[in-house]
Amino acid sequence: MHLETLAVHAGSRIDPATGAVAPPLYLSTTFERATDGSYPRGYIYTRHGNPNREALEEAMAALEGGAMGLAFASGSAAAFAVLQALPPGAHILAPKDLYHGLARLFREIATAWGLSISFVDMTDPPAVESAIRPETRLIWVETPSNPMLRITDIERIATCAHRAGALCICDNTLATPILQRPLNLGADGVVHSATKYLGGHSDAMGGIVVLKEENAFARRLREIQITGGAILPPFESWLILRGLRTLPYRMRAHCENAMRVAAFLAQHPAVEAVHYPGLPEHPGHAVAIRQMSMFGGLVSFQVRGGREAAFRVAGQTRLFIRATSFGGPESLIEHRASIEGPGTATPDNLLRLAIGLEHPDDLIEDLDQALQALR
Ligand SMILES: *Cc1c(COP(=O)(O)O)cnc(C)c1O
Repeated sequence: MHLETLAVHAGSRIDPATGAVAPPLYLSTTFERATDGSYPRGYIYTRHGNPNREALEEAMAALEGGAMGLAFASGSAAAFAVLQALPPGAHILAPKDLYHGLARLFREIATAWGLSISFVDMTDPPAVESAIRPETRLIWVETPSNPMLRITDIERIATCAHRAGALCICDNTLATPILQRPLNLGADGVVHSATKYLGGHSDAMGGIVVLKEENAFARRLREIQITGGAILPPFESWLILRGLRTLPYRMRAHCENAMRVAAFLAQHPAVEAVHYPGLPEHPGHAVAIRQMSMFGGLVSFQVRGGREAAFRVAGQTRLFIRATSFGGPESLIEHRASIEGPGTATPDNLLRLAIGLEHPDDLIEDLDQALQALR
């Protein structure tokens, strides 16, 4: 079945009690037992299982082509659960430009528990291979990466991981299953911040893990989810499933708009560099063509004149809202280095654009007038 069809139907069932087509919201935390003590309808307590969360998990497993989906309270909680499922003493390889929130999680929290992490250039497979140790259990991939939009060859890295007896988990937040399906390329699992494109309306926070197989690692993650308790609540599950229904069409528009904006910025004299994997001069373009169907809705660019100039441009936009995050209908602009804080590798003159669903001509006009600030 095609992704558009799966996005509309996966995880949906007509409500047996009323015939409702749109899913009812099950806020109840507890479910009735039968007189013999059993739970004939399958539900006990919402932390263990809830119809809204199950529907979302089923839909995401279908979209990613995996065996099992798990919904968490945020993308960070989903990533944290993957780390918690590793054996003590495990070594992890992660990209040098890992999303800064997860870099903090890996560095500050995971290492305190005896996991060790090495940060490597994931776009350089020989460098990844030489960083593998006997105790390496996980290779974490994020492609395209946030905010530098570097491209990692998922198939190559998954092969390295499997040769070393490690898992390959891919953060698929920027691409979504509409643009890229890492499990088909050899990854063992994908992680999402559902807060971004999956929810798609800047009003629900969530995280998803989808695993290719329902193996011991998957069962361990399920145990961590329901016993650890960082589950996605029913209302957020309902909102994110609702977001999935239109995901293929929203992604198409985000990508078309982003391509237009990237092409505009690439020829602008006040712009020093544009990072967008859809541009032929992007170093990851060839790999992106192979593993993605379109190139995503984020565009980063560096302005001439440094940090000061970047703030001047961001200060002049009228349509682009100065805010973090991405994936909603509205376009956002953000100076990443200042939110990531001291020690970040993100250039000081870099602005990240989250391209929304407005008309691309209006977005380009807004950037054009904002860049006049540098005249
Ligand atoms: C936002 C984001 C996360 C973290 O997700 P939250 O829902 O904010 O916890 C993880 N990875 C990437 C690539 C992200 O952009």
